[in-house]
Amino acid sequence: MGISTNYAKIRQEIPKDVTIVLSVKTRTVEQVEEVIDAGATDIGQNYVQEAGRMYSALQKKAAKVRWHMIGHLQKNKINKALQIFDVIQTVDSLGKAAAIDKRAERAGKKIIPVYIELNIGSEFSKAGIKPAEHEPFEKYMENLVRDISVLSHLRVNGLMTMGPRFGNPEDVRPYFKRTKRIFESIKALDLPNVDMKELSMGMTNSYRIAIEEGSNMVRIGTAIFGKRKENCGE
Ligand SMILES: *Cc1c(COP(=O)(O)O)cnc(C)c1O
Repeated sequence: MGISTNYAKIRQEIPKDVTIVLSVKTRTVEQVEEVIDAGATDIGQNYVQEAGRMYSALQKKAAKVRWHMIGHLQKNKINKALQIFDVIQTVDSLGKAAAIDKRAERAGKKIIPVYIELNIGSEFSKAGIKPAEHEPFEKYMENLVRDISVLSHLRVNGLMTMGPRFGNPEDVRPYFKRTKRIFESIKALDLPNVDMKELSMGMTNSYRIAIEEGSNMVRIGTAIFGKRKENCGE
């Protein structure tokens, strides 16, 4: 099946209030253009340079969608990232948040929406904040969000997580449940400059379970564009 058919099918299958972020790492500009033409509203990229190339090649169409940084953001790429992305989903420390804030101020940006990235399975190989390193984790997150909330060029708008990848996607459910609980506990604090709107969790093999567990933003690549070639990167 084609990209636009795949997108339409998934768009129809999931609730209207769930945002689909199209994960476009390693895809071609033509593929991204096709999905924008099919009605996509949000694009996710892991790589700043690849995003920059896509953004320029798409010309006016690029500005019709929201661009989400969903990959690990190195400090030396923040300036470039701020020229492209509307949302940074991968804030994984106070230091990173402060660096984005400083560069946003210099670039004359008003406010950058950010999500905090949790490595909810505390997996060695993955980015994001690992609960196992910061127990009691709910308290740690509360303090972190309080600290980030005073940065005047950022607004904390949600949480993002990958979740461990299992052969049986059902096994990820408890991790999604925990992420949702943390999301709700931060929201309940009702902190100034924090507006917990988006819970970004669920990918091709897990988005149905993620939505059942309260996700309102899924990041999907494979189910729409097909399998990726291995060895992707900048
Ligand atoms: C690649 C990627 C996705 C999409 O994964 P699929 O399995 O292709 O749907 C989602 N989120 C992040 C952070 C990714 O890197």
